Amino acid sequence: MSDRYQGFVSSPIGKLLVKNLGLPSPTALERYTEGAPLVDGTVALGGDGRLSGSLPTVLDDLGIAWSLPTAGEKYKALVFDATGITDADGLIALQEFFTPLMRSLETCPRVVVLGTTPESVSGSERVAQRALEGFTRSLGKEIGKGGTVQLVYVTEGADDATTSTLAFFLSPKSAYVSGQVVRIGAHQEKDAAPVADWTRPLEGKVALVTGASRGIGEQIARVLHRDGAKVVGVDVPQAASELQVLMKELDGDHLTLDITGKDAPQRIAHHLSTEHGGVDIVVHNAGITRDKKLANMAEDRWASVIGVNLSAPERITRALLDEKVINDNGRVIGVASIAGIAGNVGQTNYAASKAGVIGFVDSLADELGNGITINAVAPGFIITAMTAAVPFATREVGQRLNAMSQGGLPVDVAEAISWFASPGSTAVNGNVVRVCGQMMLGA
Ligand code: NAD
Repeated sequence: MSDRYQGFVSSPIGKLLVKNLGLPSPTALERYTEGAPLVDGTVALGGDGRLSGSLPTVLDDLGIAWSLPTAGEKYKALVFDATGITDADGLIALQEFFTPLMRSLETCPRVVVLGTTPESVSGSERVAQRALEGFTRSLGKEIGKGGTVQLVYVTEGADDATTSTLAFFLSPKSAYVSGQVVRIGAHQEKDAAPVADWTRPLEGKVALVTGASRGIGEQIARVLHRDGAKVVGVDVPQAASELQVLMKELDGDHLTLDITGKDAPQRIAHHLSTEHGGVDIVVHNAGITRDKKLANMAEDRWASVIGVNLSAPERITRALLDEKVINDNGRVIGVASIAGIAGNVGQTNYAASKAGVIGFVDSLADELGNGITINAVAPGFIITAMTAAVPFATREVGQRLNAMSQGGLPVDVAEAISWFASPGSTAVNGNVVRVCGQMMLGA
């Protein structure tokens, strides 16, 4: 399941061909290793808005070195507070800060622009804040060197809720997330304890992960465990032995069932409340594809995909909420797909189910209460057994059509989920974040 093209372009003959034929040359992405500092280098701070006063303290809390830009220095990351920009003329501050720094970036650099949620302001300020989207999405496409660029809109009143989001976007945990626009809104939290240890933010939390025996689900289980959670893995009976081995390794618990079973929501709710006293994090990862063009689509292919990918997460969440099994300040996390945003040939059933997952986030975001949040990831091309089944040519195109010219790894999706799951992400609600290397398809 490795990326053979990436291996080839780093060989001597590959390098020669890349140079002469203008072929894409993917940078080997840096990924987080347990115990490593969040940022291996210095963050340059810029901008003049309502967040600039608190940013140094946030970075200090995370153990991240920062400075104001100095000529001749190299930077691993740039953070620009654009909340002070109130009209189009003010946008020049972006050019003034970024242009001199673009040649001073180390490999796999990180850029985060902080803005004010446009819908919360009006007139020229709303115009200027909305303009930040075009800026960040374009910079994401041109930064190169395995770099990522994000726009984080912070609603007034949520100024002190940026720490978990900066920890994610400034670190190698966000290796394959770029060109994203995230909204941090007002606090959802209900008497939550602050994060005591940023290296194990999920300490004491119970996490349910469906489809946990392999692929992306396995990595979600591993990362949530690394971050301190007790994982309860769910998978179908055919995957029972892999699931048991993994959960034993992670000191977790397992439940073998088909999530589309009539009594599955009640069985899950009963197990979580009797064995674990409730659940803090619910990750709806299990998913299937049954591709066919609509002209050839049999009813069972349609129904099974909608059943596993969309109806089961809805029914399970509803049961857990109705039976009050999700603890206060809980996290519900869906797994959508780029196909649900851009559409894909042969995937009317799958894309409908995954766009439905986005609707599921929208429908519950304002309704949950008790500090519970709901968000989703939308993976692009992630190298797993699911994508290994894609025909070679389509797979090659799928892997290259993004700003990083490579597929992502399951761990990239898992890291984004752990950011949503963090108790520090109390004001991160209703977001759908793509883990796609800024794929050219879709918005
Ligand atoms: P995978 O096929 O490797 O793993 C899916 C897991 O879900 C398996 O362990 C499977 O047994 C389990 N599962 C399937 N049906 C189930 C059911 N009815 N009840 C319980 N468990 C069930 O797939 P993956 O690539 O790891 O994908 C994980 C999720 O990510 C899916 O929701 C998928 O749609 C989504 N996704 C994947 C990609 C990608 O590129 N791999 C891209 C976008 C979205």
